[in-house]
Amino acid sequence: MDKNAPKQIPLLSGDLSIADQKQAILAAIIADSDDAIISKTLAGIITSWNPAAIKMFGYTEQEAVGRHISLIIPPDRMNEEELIISNVAKGNKVDHFETIRMAKDGHLIPISVTISPITDRSGKIIGASKIVRDISIYKKVTEKQGMLAAIVDSSDDTILSKTLDGIITSWNKAAEKMFGYTAQEIIGKHVTIIIPPERIEEEIFIIGEVSKGNKLDHFQTIRKAKDGRLVPISLSVSPIVDDTGKIIGASKIARDISEQLDGEQERARLYEQVKALNDKKDEFIGLASHELKTPLTSIGGYLQILSTLIKDEKAARFVEKTRRQLKKLSVLVSDLLDVSKIEAGKLRFSIERFDIRQVITEVIELFSYGNNNYQITLETDLAELMISADPNRIEQVINNLLTNAIRYSPGNNRIIIYLSREAGNVKVGIRDFGIGIAPEKIKHVFSRFYRVDESNPNVSGLGIGLYLSQEIISRHGGRIWAESEPGVGSIFWFTLPPEG
Ligand code: ADP
Repeated sequence: MDKNAPKQIPLLSGDLSIADQKQAILAAIIADSDDAIISKTLAGIITSWNPAAIKMFGYTEQEAVGRHISLIIPPDRMNEEELIISNVAKGNKVDHFETIRMAKDGHLIPISVTISPITDRSGKIIGASKIVRDISIYKKVTEKQGMLAAIVDSSDDTILSKTLDGIITSWNKAAEKMFGYTAQEIIGKHVTIIIPPERIEEEIFIIGEVSKGNKLDHFQTIRKAKDGRLVPISLSVSPIVDDTGKIIGASKIARDISEQLDGEQERARLYEQVKALNDKKDEFIGLASHELKTPLTSIGGYLQILSTLIKDEKAARFVEKTRRQLKKLSVLVSDLLDVSKIEAGKLRFSIERFDIRQVITEVIELFSYGNNNYQITLETDLAELMISADPNRIEQVINNLLTNAIRYSPGNNRIIIYLSREAGNVKVGIRDFGIGIAPEKIKHVFSRFYRVDESNPNVSGLGIGLYLSQEIISRHGGRIWAESEPGVGSIFWFTLPPEG
């Protein structure tokens, strides 16, 4: 039935007696009620059953009238009925008794029932009328409210609500703990009570946003506790709307972030400490290698002079050996200096156009000069290959790769250098037939100070040659990588864009 339609109360007509008219009005009210209205005898037999009862319990009038009221009473509540009947029989009314009844399909309905005795003309109680209201929705709402209240109370975050004028209207347990005010003390007070004076402006901004219907998420700020303590918080604010959608206030959730901030500060402090130490170490390496370079250069100069002066063959051999060791030492010191330049972001290149084939040939000659037992061959179809790069740095990379190929190939003297052009890029490969590298170690060999321990304990090194090579190649826009098989050998490849 349409609830908004005017009620179909029969017009009082002159044809009906007053009693009949009253009867008709009552019948219309009963038929139109949203509450189930049921009457029954003292023995519990149903005598009337209105449309709302049909809707609420699912039994038609024919199905219900004449049956015992236990039809709608769940078995575990049967004794309630005896109590009600005995009360009604004594002429008492039972008001808003909350219980549960059962519909035809077995579902349970929370109800509020009011039961009144029905008397006959002589005043004798002959039965009872029941007005039954379905309170499931109300029950659900209160359950939900109870649940929400429990969540709000058990939250570790402050949850408060306030009007648009800033008056606090609710204050949970966490808020009491965080700010030291009890709910009693603070509800009804203005929210500025917990805002440090220099942050009052924030509240104006927040209220402005909330009034526009906007939410504020994780806004980091500071609030003031009752004892004056400042509490760093992360604040989320949402508008509260009424049934009509009108914004009537704001709910605020505030999380104490002091611990988080302490943690962050501690991490930042440790990071700064470690970084400062690391910077100091790099600075020291840079300084030490720089200082070492000067005497090394003059030793080199004196050795050169010495070699021209010495006539004795044995002595000349010693001078030559010393020169070779000095060269190794110079390379180590230069490499260290380069590492410190990389760390300081000061590694510079001077780009020129040059023939990389020429550079490779010269490096091979230089290596073969001192070690004529090495068989280093260049495999290429190209007569020349011009590129734009820093020739000294590219030579340094080829030198490093060739030095490694020799160092990590004990007993093998064959090395092949490949030079080709691939997809417009220059591609160089240095292949040895030495000890190789285990697959799981390959990805580490370009890391700073990394050495494959078991590769050869007799070979000394600092683990920076490949790190420098990678830095040089990638800073030229190229790529460097290794292919290797333990016991078979390795190929170290690098590519360079033709224009560097
Ligand atoms: P270093 O040779 O001074 O230790 P590198 O950076 O040049 O430092 O090389 C890093 C590590 O990679 C070496 O210690 C070695 O274990 C491994 N390695 C480099 N080249 C080869 C190679 N051709 N064959 C086998 N292992 C190699």
